[in-house]
Amino acid sequence: MSFIVNRNDRLIVSVEDLTHDGSGVAKVEGYPLFIPGALPDERVEIEVTKTLKKYGFAKLLNVKQASHDRVDPPCHVFPECGGCQLQHLSYEGQLLRKRKTVRDVIDRIAKLPHVPVHPVKGMENPWRYRNKSQIPFGERDGEVISGFFRSRTHHIVDTDVCIIQSIEADHLMTALKREMDVLGIQAYDEKTHKGMLRHLIVRKGRATNEIMVVFVTRKKKFPQKEAVVELVKHVIPEVTSIIQNVNDKKTNVIFGEETIVLHGKPFIVDSIGDIDFEISARSFYQLNPEQTEVLYGQALEYAQLTGNESVIDAYCGIGTISLFLAQKAKEVYGVEIVPQAIEDAKRNAELNGIDNAYFEAGPAEVVIPNWYAEGKRFDVLVVDPPRKGCDEKLLNTILEYKPKRIVYVSCNPATLARDLRILEDGGYRTQEVQPVDMFPQSSHVECVSLLQRETM
Ligand code: SAH
Repeated sequence: MSFIVNRNDRLIVSVEDLTHDGSGVAKVEGYPLFIPGALPDERVEIEVTKTLKKYGFAKLLNVKQASHDRVDPPCHVFPECGGCQLQHLSYEGQLLRKRKTVRDVIDRIAKLPHVPVHPVKGMENPWRYRNKSQIPFGERDGEVISGFFRSRTHHIVDTDVCIIQSIEADHLMTALKREMDVLGIQAYDEKTHKGMLRHLIVRKGRATNEIMVVFVTRKKKFPQKEAVVELVKHVIPEVTSIIQNVNDKKTNVIFGEETIVLHGKPFIVDSIGDIDFEISARSFYQLNPEQTEVLYGQALEYAQLTGNESVIDAYCGIGTISLFLAQKAKEVYGVEIVPQAIEDAKRNAELNGIDNAYFEAGPAEVVIPNWYAEGKRFDVLVVDPPRKGCDEKLLNTILEYKPKRIVYVSCNPATLARDLRILEDGGYRTQEVQPVDMFPQSSHVECVSLLQRETM
């Protein structure tokens, strides 16, 4: 091999940087090695695990000289479980890192070094924030296991505790794991497509404390359902809804088509600000409710509504942002590709007595040009696209019809920066970027940015 380093080599290196997904980066004669668990400014002993042409990977063996920001990760399955990437970095350090990640792409990709990127709005207590857990069950060496998938695999990392999820989810997953044998419930096996219990889902309304538990089973016939309902009621006496969902397909998708209520209501209610939302088993809902208020509050502030504006909420999901904005705008038009989510949005508008929010199912890049073609005009456009960013057709529509203000909510700084550049070239000016920490301990960062149409 003509490589500078080879597989199984043991070296001591200096860590220079941290990738967006939380790996340390060290260079050996210019050849980058990615080292999960290592932090910038550290000297570490590593073992090279894989070498590719332009870069390689290594395992952290020993921290020789630790970063000032290093902390002991409180979770015993970190970093094996892929759920968190930054538990070994102090929370303050995480927030600084996330700001730097955003700053870098705003400089490099959006080419906007003069645009302020504010300090990340973080949480006071960055633990136990997730309102939903999706817990796979399986079997290893004859024992039932449950926990979380190792990152990018379907290998279950067995655990009884996850300190970013609710305590109720901890208790139930552990109790169920212990009782499955007695109850005669077999965990599902992905390889053979045998067994019964595929996933346990626990969802909690932060504002209401309503709790939903969902059992995803391979078959509809679930002889232990009464026993399971009793178990849940025993472990979580305040449970408000127990659901069975049937998924008989060989698939990675968690939910199947059929949903059966075993106890209580088919949905839980939660609220953001003054608005109540009914959330059913399969609905998308933001995972960190406390920070969702911060995120939406920022979007609302940037929208600068006085009550006279027509607003678009593109990629609206179940209409959470739309209903939040509708209280302050003349009217809001929400568009979302999943028809079920649009049904939820309409029902939630009705539930809250909001009659100035309209929803349409379809791709934003098709529905919005149609609205304009029908003669509708808008003052403010809010977009909250998935990781791949806004569709090019949608950006072209914006540049053609020129709404005054754009509020861009993004879960991926790289595509945000790409789209900001396109909008800048089309005559918009990015005023500022506010990162919000929706997923403490992970490497993700969410941003809200404000763009104004250049006055001519
Ligand atoms: N704003 C919502 C959801 C944001 S997630 C909230 O805060 O809860 C992004 C949403 O975009 C998802 O609901 C996804 O289904 C939807 N989506 C993906 N591609 C789309 C497209 N081309 N047009 C409209 N919606 C799309």
